[in-house]
Amino acid sequence: MHRQTLAALSRGLAERRHSSVELTRHFLDRIAAHDPGLNSFITVTTESALTSAAEADKRRSAGEAGPLLGLPLAHKDIFCTTGVRTSCGSRMLDNFVSPYESAVTARLAAAGMVMLGKTNMDEFAMGSSNETSFYGPVKNPWDTTRVPGGSSGGSAAAVAARLAPAATGTDTGGSIRQPAALCNLTGIKPTYGRVSRWGMIAYASSLDQGGPMAQTAEDCALLLSAMSGHDPRDSTSLAEPVPDYTATLGDGLQGLRIGLPKQFFGAGLDAGTERCVREAIAVLEKLGARVIDVDLPNLDLSVPAYYVIAPAEASSNLSRYDGVRFGHRCANPQDLTDLYERSRSEGFGAEVKRRILVGTYALSAGYYDAYYLKAQQVRRLIRDDFVRAFRDVDVIAGPVSPTTAFRLGEKTSDPLAMYLADIYTLAVNLAGVPGMSVPCGFDGGLPVGLQLIGNYFSEGKLLNVAHRYQQETGWHTRIPEAYA
Ligand code: GLN
Repeated sequence: MHRQTLAALSRGLAERRHSSVELTRHFLDRIAAHDPGLNSFITVTTESALTSAAEADKRRSAGEAGPLLGLPLAHKDIFCTTGVRTSCGSRMLDNFVSPYESAVTARLAAAGMVMLGKTNMDEFAMGSSNETSFYGPVKNPWDTTRVPGGSSGGSAAAVAARLAPAATGTDTGGSIRQPAALCNLTGIKPTYGRVSRWGMIAYASSLDQGGPMAQTAEDCALLLSAMSGHDPRDSTSLAEPVPDYTATLGDGLQGLRIGLPKQFFGAGLDAGTERCVREAIAVLEKLGARVIDVDLPNLDLSVPAYYVIAPAEASSNLSRYDGVRFGHRCANPQDLTDLYERSRSEGFGAEVKRRILVGTYALSAGYYDAYYLKAQQVRRLIRDDFVRAFRDVDVIAGPVSPTTAFRLGEKTSDPLAMYLADIYTLAVNLAGVPGMSVPCGFDGGLPVGLQLIGNYFSEGKLLNVAHRYQQETGWHTRIPEAYA
């Protein structure tokens, strides 16, 4: 059962080949057997999963027939889930049981989906390797000496090892696309404002966006159709109507204009990764697409701009963790300052502290104009680059990550090296456009991802291109041997 896509499992439920309880038990058993070696889950919600599965089976017997009804999935532990610990990968929230449900998890639950548990992640989604988690690093199922990527590394490893058929993720600067690429999954970061951020723990609010991580573009389309939509509780949520993303998956690619920015193929890109990405583009050309050179002249500035803006917003968002109302509180505080200082020093890990320091510095009087304001101006230039490029092309293609999965510990002592690994993903968040990752080959036994970037609200087009590519290729169907 675990070798099937969400779409196939959905057909199985409709044709009564399996029940939701059977499916859910199967994946819970796989988590019990395989997760100790991967560390992809922080919390497994065995009992509530079986209860919601039984409810889904009842709804189906009563005649309901939604495509997601009864399908299990895992949620990144950044989404608040009522009555369940929501840790965000941090000691600060290790004891936090959410009193309310996030919009994303509520929508998927209303569609009848069954939550298997909450997945491991970099602390407060800050990282590219899942090594900043309070709960320890996640291992990549393709090679357990390597990172799964981050920050949605737990979701990626869980789906890659088929401990869950799909999962949710969030992407502030690449955290859906990069782990998807490093673990051979399909993932999409929607247009900023497409998916409600309500109940999704904030990292950098002007960049954060939730989205699906799954085996195929078709599965992502099913999930994104259910996750998207206007939410008055998120003031940046957009009222744009939500199409059925599955309806346009099969559209032909004749005449599709694919832009290749030279900035995506310069120094720093691994030769093996480049080969796979170029072969993927050749497949799209065979399907009728036309390749056009485009220029994203400010792409290089996305690393410095992002690593000012994201920490600035994080330093503000994380000020709410003060040891007073919820989360970690130090023992025997002497006074209020002592309570703040020790609760925060004990509750946050090293990378989170680094970001708070950088962000507070960039926002402080005297430095605001030089750093924060300048970064916002650069952000505008990056957005303008995309707007200009999308006058000539329908999608932009390139790599997701400059290399395949690196070794655990390889970059932990060098934050700059870690930040530079985000070079191809950050600009998409700064501009707010949608981007996705699609499996496109292997280099040295490790998966490589093709990145597809589209104009605002072109999720349907991206999923369509990815789906047609997946009908021609088999990369996305590969499962690591130990988990087959
Ligand atoms: N690696 C980037 C960071 O550390 C992006 C993380 C994310 O998208 N949440 O900020």
